Parts: sequence; structure tokens; C-alpha cells
Amino acid sequence: MPKPAAPYPGPLPHAESARDLLVQAANLAADHLERRRGDPVAITADRDALAARIAAFDFAHPMPGADAVATLFDLLREAGVRSDHPRYFGLFNPPSLPAGIAGDIVAATVNPQLAVWAHAPAAAEIERHLVRLFGRRIWPESGETAGTFTSGGSEANHTALLAALARKCPDWADRGVAAFARPPLVYASAESHLAWIKIARAAGLGAQAVRLVPARDGLRLDGATLEAAIRADEGIGEPVLLVATAGTTAHGAIDDIAGIAEVGARHGAHVHVDAAWAGGILLDPAQRRLLSGIERADSVTIDPHKWLAVPMGAGLYCARDWQPLETAFGVSTAYMPSASTAMRDPYIHSLQWSRRFIGAKLFVALATLGVDGYTAMIERQFALGRRLRAKLAESGFVVVNDSPLPLSCFAPPGATDATVQELAHAVVANGSTWLSTVRLDGRLCLRACITGFETEKQDVDSLIDLLVTTERERRLANTPE
Ligand SMILES: *Cc1c(COP(=O)(O)O)cnc(C)c1O
Repeated sequence: MPKPAAPYPGPLPHAESARDLLVQAANLAADHLERRRGDPVAITADRDALAARIAAFDFAHPMPGADAVATLFDLLREAGVRSDHPRYFGLFNPPSLPAGIAGDIVAATVNPQLAVWAHAPAAAEIERHLVRLFGRRIWPESGETAGTFTSGGSEANHTALLAALARKCPDWADRGVAAFARPPLVYASAESHLAWIKIARAAGLGAQAVRLVPARDGLRLDGATLEAAIRADEGIGEPVLLVATAGTTAHGAIDDIAGIAEVGARHGAHVHVDAAWAGGILLDPAQRRLLSGIERADSVTIDPHKWLAVPMGAGLYCARDWQPLETAFGVSTAYMPSASTAMRDPYIHSLQWSRRFIGAKLFVALATLGVDGYTAMIERQFALGRRLRAKLAESGFVVVNDSPLPLSCFAPPGATDATVQELAHAVVANGSTWLSTVRLDGRLCLRACITGFETEKQDVDSLIDLLVTTERERRLANTPE
């Protein structure tokens, strides 16, 4: 006699209807968007209090899903720096466009697996379509663009290094760095993103393989300076990847892309443009000239989660050629459907294997705003950047970077590092705006960047007012009686 079956497990506790939960969550999200302008931009977290509130969730007593979602919104709202705030003038972490959030809901809901084209053909084709859209703006002359969505700029840049190694020496795919006669080297401006250091370590090259070349006048790397650096390294290794940064994190400098491409051609090195932030302006024909020379690059990083304001993480690696990706990532295994280079199966052209449908949020955002909507959003941010720069100068601050992008680095005249630090602390402590500090040519200065599509003229003006009053108070407090 068969044993009586164990009782079949009942429904999950608090398994409210999916519709109720999702509608409630969407309402909470919409509430958040409507109220955020009134929130403080930064609240210093009390770590013990925060940890205690979180530890109260012992997960022993299930709660309604909508309550969990509401608590999560509260926790995120009540401590930290709110990069989604209209008066956040910090690094490139914009608020998410509602259409991007909606696209992400679709990706999370259907949860297609993008490893293989045949399992998620619509998702894979949508991503190909988006890669081509950027490809046409980078390389107007070329028909096909290779590329892949990534978790962000770091993975896209990592992909660039692996592609460069594969291109220079296909044997590297089997033998690793030992396949090179001399150690492979990566060249980038000293102002480039430090992700390159981690990437060189991850690729087994080590941090010293990244040759950080001091840019002339501290900002913009040009071809002649790069050429001289490569010559000075003769005998140390072989230049494999040359990076032009378009929009440095600290001060928005755009390297001389054409000059760097020239050097790349001379040395047979892969030329990569790291345009994680500024690559967004490819959608603005009026600003495309700022990236001139990009059409000579072999590959480009663009982070849609930066200027294009879709939820993190969304990076994009675009390249002229599929072959290096195929060499770097191609594998075959019995448990996967046979890998297809004809269909460009994502898992044999990318670092990731199981993969979220990253392109969904950009697809819905582009379809909703249209390219023209994005152009208008970007132009507005440029206009606010010009306003910020002009008002800073009018108010007696010295603007020390000359980036064409909406990012100003500045200080009161004659300010020491300590003065700048004091001013930055006082401004941020006010809680109504957030900005950062940065070092330029060895001196500390304040840094304000227009990042969000909700930022208005009035927000720029209140940043200026706050800077002016705070600086006046600081001077008064420091003036001997
Ligand atoms: C943000 C950024 C990166 C790193 O990208 P993540 O998306 O943060 O991984 C790399 N390079 C530049 C120029 C960046 O602005």
C-alpha cells in the first residue's frame, strides 16, 4: 500500500492577489515621485538606529507585501543621499524616468532569460535594435554594430579590455597573458575612471598595467601626450588598449578622441571611448560634435543609467566588430542549446550568462519620449549648466574647469582646501541641496553637476543663493572682530 501523501502545501501566507500587490506597489512608487521634491536631499544615517530597524525584520512573521514595500520606501527615504532629488547636484546618478521604471517592471515580470537568442528572441532583438541605434550615431558610415548591454560602465569597460586582448592576440583566449610577447598595457588619462584599475586586476594584468597618463593642463588627454607616454614605456610592455574618456567624472573633460585614435592606429592598439556619462548626448544632434572623433573608435561605453536616466544598472558596450567578443566569450557546453554566432547568442558575446532584460527600460523610455524627447531633456540640462556657470561667476566664484558639459568646478577666490571643505560641509548640512568636492590640479574645489531631468531653474538658483549666503556667513565667522 502506498503511504498516504503528505498534505499538499497550501497557498503562501499573505499571498494577496498579484494584482492588488502590484497596484499598491505602483501607487507607492507614484506617491514617492510626487512627494520627493519636498524631501530633504541628504539625511545622515544613524547606523545603529538603522541597523536596529532592519534587524526587526526577523522574517518569522510574514506581513502583507504592500506593507513591506511601504517600509522599504520609508527606509530608503529616511537616510542617505537622495540622488533622485531635483536638487542633487552630485555624480551621474539621475532619478529614473517613469517610462524607464515601467520598462523595468516588464523585465522583472516576464523575466526572460537572455543567454540564448532562441529563448528570448524579442528581448534579444530589441537589444540588438537599441545597440544599432547608438551604433549609427557613433559610426554613421557603418551598417552593422556589434555590442551588448551590460550591468554598467564597469562591465562595459571590462568588456573593452577583453575584446582588445582578443583582437591583439586571439591566442590569449586560450593561453591568457602568457600568449603576449610583452605584458599588455592599457593607457588612459590620469583623470579616467578608476574602474580601469579593478578591471586590469580582474583581467589578470595587475594595476600597474594601467598607465595613467597625466593630461596636459590637468584635464584633457591629447594624442601627442599619449604618444610620448607610450614611447617612454618602450620595453616595458605592449600598448593593447587606449582609452579616451569622454566626460571625466571629476570635471567633465573630453579627451582628444581623434588624436588618441591616431595613436591607436599607429600602434595597432584597440581604441575605446569611455563615454559612460557623456555618451547620452549621442541622442542630441546639437551636441554630437563634442564627441567628434568617436567615429574612429573601435568601441564605446555608454551608460543608459546615467544621462539617459533609466534605472540602474544599464550599461552598453558598442563595437565595430563582433569577432573580438566571440573570441573572448565564445564557449560551448552540452547543457546549453548549441551556441549560435549567426543569432549572436548573448552568452557567447558577453561576460554575463543568465541575464536580465536590461534593454527593456531603455526601450520603453525611448518609445515613450522619442529621440526628440531625449534631445529636449539633454538640451535643457545643458541650458541649466550654462545658467549655473554664469551665476557662479556673477556671484564671485571662480569656475576652474572649462567643460562643455553641464558640470562646474569652482571655489571662492583665493580659497584654501580647508575653506572649500568647510563651505561644502555647511552647504550639504543645510539639507536642501547636495554637491561634492573634487581635486583639480592639486586644489580642492566644489563640484556641481546637472544630473536630473526634474531639476529646474529655481533649483539652480537656490543652490547659488545657498552658496552665497553660506560663504558670506563663513567669512563673517572667520573675520577677527
Ligand atoms: C560611471 C563611470 C564609469 C563606471 O560605470 P558604472 O556604471 O558605475 O559601472 C566608468 N567610466 C566613466 C567615465 C564613468 O562616468
